[in-house]
Amino acid sequence: MKNSISYTLLTMLSLLITIISSPGYADELSEDEIIERFSNKTVEGRHLKKNFSFVRFYGADGTLIAVSDEKGERTANWSADEENLCHQWHGKNKCFPMKEQDGVVKMYNRRGTVPILVFNKFTDGNNLDKITATETEIYEGPIIDGHGHLGGNYDPAEMLARDKRDDVPHMVVFPRLFNADTSKGTTEEVASEIAALYKDHMWMTVALQRRDVYEMDWQSPQSWWQDWLKWAKDEISSGRRRGMGELTAVHHAYTESEFAERDFPVDSVLVNDLLTLSAQTQRPLVLHAEGEAHVVPQIETQLKRHPKALLVWAHACGRSQPELVGKLLKTYPNLYCDLGNMTDTGNYGSLWPRKEDWMSQWEQDGTILPEWIKVMEQFPDRFYLGMDTNQWRGWVNQGIRSRAGRLDRFRAVLPQLSDSTIKSITIEVPTKLFGDR
Ligand SMILES: [Zn+2]
Ligand SMILES: [Zn+2]
Repeated sequence: MKNSISYTLLTMLSLLITIISSPGYADELSEDEIIERFSNKTVEGRHLKKNFSFVRFYGADGTLIAVSDEKGERTANWSADEENLCHQWHGKNKCFPMKEQDGVVKMYNRRGTVPILVFNKFTDGNNLDKITATETEIYEGPIIDGHGHLGGNYDPAEMLARDKRDDVPHMVVFPRLFNADTSKGTTEEVASEIAALYKDHMWMTVALQRRDVYEMDWQSPQSWWQDWLKWAKDEISSGRRRGMGELTAVHHAYTESEFAERDFPVDSVLVNDLLTLSAQTQRPLVLHAEGEAHVVPQIETQLKRHPKALLVWAHACGRSQPELVGKLLKTYPNLYCDLGNMTDTGNYGSLWPRKEDWMSQWEQDGTILPEWIKVMEQFPDRFYLGMDTNQWRGWVNQGIRSRAGRLDRFRAVLPQLSDSTIKSITIEVPTKLFGDR
């Protein structure tokens, strides 16, 4: 197959064009000009970001009919009428919607929300032989959702069906026992039933989103707390539950509901008890605490006090600056960061509901911050992804804020990381922390 493509290349190669990245060739060619120039032609170029070469074949009507690049052989057929491109790649036949937009042909992901490849962005300039092409790449492999919630109105069968479609092999689930906005709370009994029924897919934690936790003095827990700890230890040790979470200690309000604005002490008896349980069971405590100046030293105190515990500091370690997170990861081998809702898609990851000086985004407009890339490449075994869908409507809605939209966004930005880091944070780290033992 490869030889025949190479042979075809040699015989068809009638146009060798250098792809340039500099702007200045602003005028896009009309469709007629594209047809005139590219019908039955082969175009060779280089990917602008990833620096690999590719070759494209164009049919008589000027549309792309085949693509080949060093990442694998592809043959493809596309017709503008059907707006669908099907290609064979690594033995799999994959079809993607194609749309002509703004004078270019874009190939979209299966849900039609994220452009994967952009073809035919031909610009004209002084040198008519020069072309600018843009190409983006998405991560198409499996992603474990390491930060999910369960409310009373969630439909677990529907969640499983969507995750099968979206190649999400597992999700970590935090039962939420109180109502949140439009989403009713669930109970531990229901969570246990769902955990048993969907144990191959859902890794359920014991619930810490519960009113009685927020109504209690964390320095002096009530008597029920000791009984709960015994129950939790039994559930986690048996494997029926996979950890503790999400405990929200420090939270910025975005509704007017009770406890929406919280500042509970991380350096407290309650968190001590949970970290002791974590050390005993070797399952993590997932903690939500905005990384304010008075919070960071308390986290450090707990990491020092409980060196055998596994502490996941949610939301890119409290939305802290990557430089600080790098230092903490180096000092404390028992610290992990989940990236729950840290895509720049209009919520936590977009510095909402408040934006403060100590905060950092993880990615901005589709680009992971370089400082974050540095920290993640240094500590790939300490991060994992999460969609943090805390309302049922997030599952059924479309758009960038929905669960599907956040998954798409992670898929779109992940190729900025190395392949081994992608594998670690999409699969290996959450499996190590929450998976079957
Ligand atoms: Zn959270
Ligand atoms: Zn959450």
